[in-house]
Amino acid sequence: MFKLDCHCGAVSLTVHAELPTEAMSCNCSHCRRKGLLLAFYPREQVTLDKGEEALAGYDFNKREIHHRFCSTCGCQPFAEGKMPDGSPTRAINLRCAPDVDLDTIKLNKFDGASS
Ligand SMILES: [Zn+2]
Repeated sequence: MFKLDCHCGAVSLTVHAELPTEAMSCNCSHCRRKGLLLAFYPREQVTLDKGEEALAGYDFNKREIHHRFCSTCGCQPFAEGKMPDGSPTRAINLRCAPDVDLDTIKLNKFDGASS
């Protein structure tokens, strides 16, 4: 179990799973600008502890992923969508998880710019 939060602390989540060892680094027009490092979990394993009222959202392109960010500090702790099998997922941004040592994470590069 580990925590995610935004910079100002308005938004806080708990991930009910082991610390991740890998992350997706995507080069699409959106991810590259935010520097997102994403790990995907079943939606029920990622609970929003506080901050629903502070969250803004952003959708683009096919609008399959709903990006959620803090309306005060701008940090994006997570996004919501569906896995290829249709099950709901929350993709967490490892840069918002202080317990994750980013230097030990294996980065899986995803060519979102070409898809
Ligand atoms: Zn914030």
